[in-house]
Amino acid sequence: MTSLGRGASVALTDLEKSYDRVAAVAGVSLDIRSGEFLTLLGPSGSGKTTTLMMIAGFETPTAGDIAIDGTSVVGMPPYRRNIGMVFQNYALFPHLTVEENIGFPLKQRGMPKPERAKLVGEALELVHLPGYGGRYPRQLSGGQQQRVALARAIVFKPRLLLMDEPLGALDKQLRENLQLEMRRLHADLGITFIYVTHDQEEALTMSDRIAVMNDGLVAQVGSPEDLYDRPSSRFVAAFIGESNFLPATVRGMEDDVVVAECEGAIVRAICPGRPASGDRVLLTTRPERLRFTDGAWSSSAPQNRMNVTVTEAVFAGERCRYMLQAADGTAMVLKEPSSAAIRRRAVGERTEIAWSVADTILV
Ligand code: ADP
Ligand code: MG
Repeated sequence: MTSLGRGASVALTDLEKSYDRVAAVAGVSLDIRSGEFLTLLGPSGSGKTTTLMMIAGFETPTAGDIAIDGTSVVGMPPYRRNIGMVFQNYALFPHLTVEENIGFPLKQRGMPKPERAKLVGEALELVHLPGYGGRYPRQLSGGQQQRVALARAIVFKPRLLLMDEPLGALDKQLRENLQLEMRRLHADLGITFIYVTHDQEEALTMSDRIAVMNDGLVAQVGSPEDLYDRPSSRFVAAFIGESNFLPATVRGMEDDVVVAECEGAIVRAICPGRPASGDRVLLTTRPERLRFTDGAWSSSAPQNRMNVTVTEAVFAGERCRYMLQAADGTAMVLKEPSSAAIRRRAVGERTEIAWSVADTILV
């Protein structure tokens, strides 16, 4: 037998699930590495829960394969897969104490009481709830209940933990605290986490890699930086963070850089493929990467430049947000950190903006 890490590897191959011939999952292939924190991110209805349920064994694939540590688990009942699972709505047993809730999976596996007590104690420590064992779920806050659900999911030392929007019911502050705790727990346990969320900020904060889902398919897989800096499609660029989109016409290539005409200006962009001269394409860039050229700013990197008019100016505390309009009418957003030392722009002002070629992507 080959030596395995503490975390399971999961391979999804052409995975499909249809209900009444409508595909909830339409052909997902994804390799999740041992010990990885992988997030399925996508809008509501994109197939995240269905994918997770098939991995857990609560739904049967219509087609395709799921392998855990290299062995197909299709047809294996959920309890034999040894996977921990946390849902959005806690799903604690209301009539059992915290200790009994957490010990439940161990009791199911026939573990004797003294051994059970030891593992339950350890799990309570891991989720920062020692001393809460005798309480009932109704005596706990939402955040505490979710910690108990988490403890119950890891108490039997699974090699894979699945979580479906586990923080969705909590308020923002608590959610952010628990996000950090989940990351810590992931580092401590060293097991594989597959996490589902529709919240792009949460996905960016927590994940080693993110698989962006749309209409039952994986649109792109990569690290948070990959997805934010190098989105491969308009969907990903728009779903993760905020993006400007510039329609352009290709005029040529300079090595891996595409030269395009856009709003009367020549704009250069990073381009994975090789579009032909005359092709109509879409370029994208992030609002915080744009700068006013007459501001306190300089860069030695190659820049794109464009003349614009300010159409809206909003002071939003830590940053100022400007709506700009280019010559042919394309709207763009520019965000800059607010500072008493930076001149505020007025609506109607005509000015020039610049941004790096490296921050301009053809999607
Ligand atoms: P997500 O978790 O990304 O919001 P789901 O996996 O829950 O998406 O659902 C994907 C699609 O499959 C949705 O259109 C949903 O309505 C449909 N679907 C999910 N479960 C069922 C079911 N049991 N019966 C019929 N349609 C379903
Ligand atoms: Mg869901």
